Amino acid sequence: MTKCVFCGREEPDYTGVHLIKNDGTVDFYCSSKCRKNSLKLGRDKRKLKWTLTYKDSLKSNAAREIAHEAKKVEDAKEAKKVADEKAIVRKAFKEARTDKKAKEAKK
Ligand SMILES: [Zn+2]
Repeated sequence: MTKCVFCGREEPDYTGVHLIKNDGTVDFYCSSKCRKNSLKLGRDKRKLKWTLTYKDSLKSNAAREIAHEAKKVEDAKEAKKVADEKAIVRKAFKEARTDKKAKEAKK
């Protein structure tokens, strides 16, 4: 089984076209559609909906968005936690100050 460099589909051996470049790399094209879209028409495989690369990029985009949303929620939780801690510290300082004032007033 060989993987097409354009659409990403697995094709059985002895089908399609193997293009051997001058630098020694071998590109396998499963069909003339893939070969022409890549070489002749110069299309980007990530922008064509029928390629697996496009579908993979959609999946990775969705995963990235989900991760981004999760990070947002996490950041919001962290910010709330920090704000709560600050409020507690502020309250403690206020209480300490009022205690000090009360003691000074008694003297
Ligand atoms: Zn192909």
